[in-house]
Amino acid sequence: MIVIGGGLAGLSSAVALAEAGHRVRLLEKRPHLGGRAASYVLPGGEHVDNCQHVTLGCCTNLADFYGRVGAAEKIRFFDRLLFATPDGRRGAMESFPLPPPLHMAPSFVRFPFLGWADKLAIARALLTIAFSGGRPADLSGDVGGTTMLAWLQKHRQTEPAIRRFWEVILVSALDEELHRIDARYGIDVFWKAFLSARGGYRLGIPCVPLGELYDGCKDAIARRGGEVLLRAGVRGFQVTGNQVAGVAREDGSVETADYYVAAVPHDILPELLPAEVVEREPVFSSVRNLRTSPITGVHLWYDRIVMHEPFLTLLDSTTQWVFNKTQLYGGGAAPDGQYLQLVISASHSLVPLSRQEIIELCLNELREVLPGIREAKLVKGTVIKETAATFSPAPGSDRWRPAQKSPLKELFLAGDWTFTGWPSTMEGAVRSGYLAAEAILSDLGAPQKFLQLDLPAEGLARLWARKS
Ligand SMILES: Cc1cc2nc3c(=O)[nH]c(=O)nc-3n(C[C@H](O)[C@H](O)[C@H](O)COP(=O)(O)OP(=O)(O)OC[C@H]3O[C@@H](n4cnc5c(N)ncnc54)[C@H](O)[C@@H]3O)c2cc1C
Repeated sequence: MIVIGGGLAGLSSAVALAEAGHRVRLLEKRPHLGGRAASYVLPGGEHVDNCQHVTLGCCTNLADFYGRVGAAEKIRFFDRLLFATPDGRRGAMESFPLPPPLHMAPSFVRFPFLGWADKLAIARALLTIAFSGGRPADLSGDVGGTTMLAWLQKHRQTEPAIRRFWEVILVSALDEELHRIDARYGIDVFWKAFLSARGGYRLGIPCVPLGELYDGCKDAIARRGGEVLLRAGVRGFQVTGNQVAGVAREDGSVETADYYVAAVPHDILPELLPAEVVEREPVFSSVRNLRTSPITGVHLWYDRIVMHEPFLTLLDSTTQWVFNKTQLYGGGAAPDGQYLQLVISASHSLVPLSRQEIIELCLNELREVLPGIREAKLVKGTVIKETAATFSPAPGSDRWRPAQKSPLKELFLAGDWTFTGWPSTMEGAVRSGYLAAEAILSDLGAPQKFLQLDLPAEGLARLWARKS
């Protein structure tokens, strides 16, 4: 079997197929694995992630994949979510020993950055989601016409509730602004992460550079006689009629296999297929309708310690997250100082700005939040703008997401953009990889399950989950 693309979708499908006893050849264009969730070394020797990547307790397939490749211990989970306002005040959200969906209610009641009217409005909307098991009646039959913002306005959310609660969580989780998010994606985030199960919201942060999470993949694939080839870009598929005859590599060689998994980004797939096949099969041409959304990462190295928390979520700021990489890496990232990473999702407004302008904007916002930076020396700063970080979960975007089994007999598709029911995330990518492997094994007449179940609903949420 040949898997093209060494991101999480390609890696998870390759590992699953190898575990099912198949010899897999994984062809990755770049010199490293991980795709968008990769890390690399800067000319100065610093290890940087393409961008900070976090997972949540409800991402059961990603957790399963990390377990299979020996990376589970490299993820540290946090039960306490820390927030800060531009004037430096702090607040937290955490779970209490109450049955879901009430487990976070005590910290929500005490949350200092929302007034009573805001909290009542939020509680009403959250209960509407909970009572419906994550499928509110006013969205049933909706084929993607309602945006999250429209749904929130319909449910009479106050302006601070939208800005300091819904937007903070959803822009980070879905990498898009509320007026461009399909309400069904937004509601799913709250049901799975905050309402149905106690551990769904727990924040998992890698304590190593992202590239080290994939160390075990090569072994898992090699154990069944397969191999991983880096700098092995594919130029295109050779297609005869309805069948794939082989793949042409960028070095001019041609490789053949019984099955092929294309685990490349959605905009690359049509370029790897003959134009007449893309024209003929709407599945391949319609992926071009998916739109993308940017994420900006800002990396700052200070000459001293300026932050004591492991991470902070900022309210009312362009900067959304600050990660204390030195602490998360156990002190190793900047032994004599501190390395911070800032993340701004759906960073449409930053795309036209220069790197220096972005750094200055963020530093201005951090002055009161982390007063230590006023005295400290910024040794180095760098900005990584990913203009097409994720596909935009716009209303109706599911229409353009193909299933893993393609119209060509031997070709299967994987990638966070294929149809998984999940947004563009590492969890979505691994789900797609497992689904592609399952589809191939079914085709071979030897079906096997890799896809993991969602966290089971707990407490009162169990009653409503059954109803849905
Ligand atoms: C800045 C940023 C921040 C993010 N933050 C988070 C987060 O915190 N949490 C989260 O869950 N998700 C996050 N995501 C999303 C997550 O990274 C992606 O959803 C996921 O990694 C996609 O995996 P994939 O395998 O589908 O695609 P990719 O990772 O894009 O992998 C595709 C692979 O195919 C390779 N390839 C392309 N063309 C060819 C070719 N011709 N031949 C061979 N190989 C080829 C590419 O080099 C790449 O390695 C973030 C994404 C970005 C960009």
